Amino acid sequence: MWGSIIWFGLGLVLLYFIWKIGLGMLRGMTSTLPPPPPAGEMRRINVRYRCSSCGTELRMTMAPDQNPPPPKHCLDDMDLIAPID
Ligand SMILES: [Zn+2]
Repeated sequence: MWGSIIWFGLGLVLLYFIWKIGLGMLRGMTSTLPPPPPAGEMRRINVRYRCSSCGTELRMTMAPDQNPPPPKHCLDDMDLIAPID
């Protein structure tokens, strides 16, 4: 009687480990193969803007396209200073 319970327990432990290894493999596969970002969705840019009213400058590094509309500051569009390449 005890023997069958022990085997049953070992079976559960084995199933648990198989399940864990399976999950780990799945996770490994997803981490080594990240889904590629959709083409043309975000672009790496490097442009600076300055607020003509108060002088605040900011740098934009990511945008949906190469020439994004200027951000607003002090209720006005910021001036594009220069793209930094
Ligand atoms: Zn401003």
